[in-house]
Amino acid sequence: MSSFIDELNDAQKAPVLHKDGPLMVIAGAGSGKTRVLTYRIAHLMAQGVDSFNILSLTFTNKAAREMKERIAQIVGASEAKNLWMGTFHSVFAKLLRIDGNKLGYPANFTIYDTQDSQRLIASIIKEMGLDKDIYKYKQIQNRISSFKNSLITVKAYRNDPDLVEQDAMAKKPRTGDIYENYVDRCFKAGAMDFDDLLLRTNELLTRYPDVLMKYQDRFRYILVDEYQDTNHSQYLIVKALADRFQNICVVGDDAQSIYSFRGANISNILNFQKDYDNVGMYRLEQNYRSTRNIVNAANSVIGKNQNQIEKVVWTDNDDGGAIKIHRSPTDAEEGRFVANSIWEHRMQKQMGNGEFAVLYRTNSQSRAIEDALRKRDIPYRIYGGLSFYQRKEIKDVLSYLRLVINPKDEEALKRVINFPARGIGGTTLDKLVVAANHYNRSIFEVMENIERINLKINSGTKRKLQDFVTMIKSFQVMNETTDAFTLSEHVAKKTGILLEFKKDGTPEGIGKMENIEELLNGIKDFVEGQKEIDDATGNISEFLEDVALATDLDNDTGDDDRVALMTIHLAKGLEFPYVYIVGMEEDLFPSGMSMSTRSELEEERRLFYVALTRAEKQAYLTYTQNRYRWGKLIDAEPSRFLEEIDEKYVENLTPVDGGYRYKSLINADIFGEVDKSKLRQQKPVKGTPPLVGQPNPNQLKKLRKIKPQLSEPVGNTNKIDPNLAVGSLINHTRFGRGKVVKIEGTGNDRKAEIVFDKGDIKKLLLRFAKLEVI
Ligand code: ATP
Ligand code: MG
Repeated sequence: MSSFIDELNDAQKAPVLHKDGPLMVIAGAGSGKTRVLTYRIAHLMAQGVDSFNILSLTFTNKAAREMKERIAQIVGASEAKNLWMGTFHSVFAKLLRIDGNKLGYPANFTIYDTQDSQRLIASIIKEMGLDKDIYKYKQIQNRISSFKNSLITVKAYRNDPDLVEQDAMAKKPRTGDIYENYVDRCFKAGAMDFDDLLLRTNELLTRYPDVLMKYQDRFRYILVDEYQDTNHSQYLIVKALADRFQNICVVGDDAQSIYSFRGANISNILNFQKDYDNVGMYRLEQNYRSTRNIVNAANSVIGKNQNQIEKVVWTDNDDGGAIKIHRSPTDAEEGRFVANSIWEHRMQKQMGNGEFAVLYRTNSQSRAIEDALRKRDIPYRIYGGLSFYQRKEIKDVLSYLRLVINPKDEEALKRVINFPARGIGGTTLDKLVVAANHYNRSIFEVMENIERINLKINSGTKRKLQDFVTMIKSFQVMNETTDAFTLSEHVAKKTGILLEFKKDGTPEGIGKMENIEELLNGIKDFVEGQKEIDDATGNISEFLEDVALATDLDNDTGDDDRVALMTIHLAKGLEFPYVYIVGMEEDLFPSGMSMSTRSELEEERRLFYVALTRAEKQAYLTYTQNRYRWGKLIDAEPSRFLEEIDEKYVENLTPVDGGYRYKSLINADIFGEVDKSKLRQQKPVKGTPPLVGQPNPNQLKKLRKIKPQLSEPVGNTNKIDPNLAVGSLINHTRFGRGKVVKIEGTGNDRKAEIVFDKGDIKKLLLRFAKLEVI
């Protein structure tokens, strides 16, 4: 037997050596599930399985890279290269570039990130004349995303009275129309959003049996890490691909399922044995990661959940120190405590910054921690939040590059058509959008044909539009013969973006220029790196795909020694010697948003279990007595999770108030100048804490307000007869035949009340209504 197998314990060896057929490993944190997956791949290859026949799906691309490196050490680098390994999104994006043309997508389709999707939805809501306070674009985007992840297409939505009713009850009866519009627009732009990467893969595999056969034959061995967090769409893809050979290996931990808000479905684990025959079931019990105190503390917490698969987790590691609980008066103090503690550990034990992680429930909590670390001169790195690639100046450059690859890309075009300013105003853009909708073409195609279309745009502006088209086409020509770096540098200069920030001259402007320079450096690195990969060309489209699918963890080069700051969601699967979990307060963790049902609370508890089990040597839990939330100082209560840890395993660093271990000490003298009477009156503010990964509100405020300017004849997207009058008979594309009973408003706001033959009475905004007079 090969020697690497001996780096596993017996329980781990069994699933690694399991012969063909389905198998599942369910085990607690730190017990070596990811290790089992890695070694099973190495073992398969050592047994002669062709690396081309193995597909492995991980939670981050970083995890995939690390697994590949380990496998390369065992079986050799050249063999490991051919493994298809990565996140669901990156793997299936690759597949769709090859076969997506069957669904009408170009091979160079753009991937819209969440920000692009949200911007597009916001403009659709605006164009449809809907109230943006009712139709909140982020909520709508979330809802559309959940439809897609449950494979509910527009048609399926319309045919589902329950869903339609839900939206109607929520006073959002046009949700389906927005959904339809959004899907059309993405398609016309040659773009897929993140959810499409899964949805379209499913569509492809369902509609094209030959494609399904091809990939079933190719991926004879499929392995999935973190299976507990797969959603329905991912589940179906895996099931379809594994159907023929049934060589499917999944590993996971139901106690670490923390993505149900994104549609992750725990029943995928629970039903695995029903989905496949003769499933090999394996359990791992020994934790190699953490001290005994941490393992036991985590067990005592997760034991409070009713819904769980029985599991044992134990460790041979040392007891280690007790889990330390610390209370601060404010979040600024909390930050100082964390910074001081890290500083002391570093001093006393000669440790690197990279051995520490600070974990929090929501991104906004990082600010106080950052301030304190900066004051202490401790280098740190924030994961999540606004990533480098989402900064405005970076997205602007990337948008030009996206247009080079796919000029239909509507969101990219809208970003840069007038940046740097070239006299193409919002009104012109609106007219282009309307015309594009009317002709069912992309905005770029409308611009290309601007002379042939009767648009009310003056000749000066038309020329500017043509110049823009010519510029993009010249970049395309250049792209044929040059590498990504040379092209990007040329684009940054030629478009005037660099000059724009240089002219600005302010420190912010200079900062932005430096960021663009950093982007170009990154592209240079990428080009150099790609030269070593067999089927890569160092072309800009490969770079853009990498960027679009990069999670924040993926940008971690790992070579700089910094404290890691991230949300708990992002920390899944990772490990650090020292972990600080901050903001252990009611309404924050557990989140105020997630306490109304048992299952929500249980998910919060699993999140806490994930957080605690990231720590190898020492865990700190900190909470504050007062915290600014939504601009108000509130009286914070210690988290119930602190109470739930068996007290054998914890130590309080701050004095506690008699009976109740963690009761907040509002009257303690620790308060100094704060006006206590005020504090006590303040009720915790309930609200919507930002979910992980949401863009910050300021950024969204900056979104350009698109003014629909549609009163010109060309603005009509439909075949409205100008003589539409009370009594007119009309035909509507969806509602059928009807009779106009009332007309109100003028211009953009002109509405008609129509009684349809099917019995519906609807008020339709005429500039969008798809109807004709009969
Ligand atoms: P999580 O649930 O957090 O994803 P996991 O079950 O995937 O955890 P791994 O990350 O694979 O666990 O392993 C946890 C740590 O224990 C890693 O550092 C791993 O290298 C180490 N480890 C696992 N098995 C062994 C072993 N048999 N001998 C030595 N170290 C091991
Ligand atoms: Mg793991």
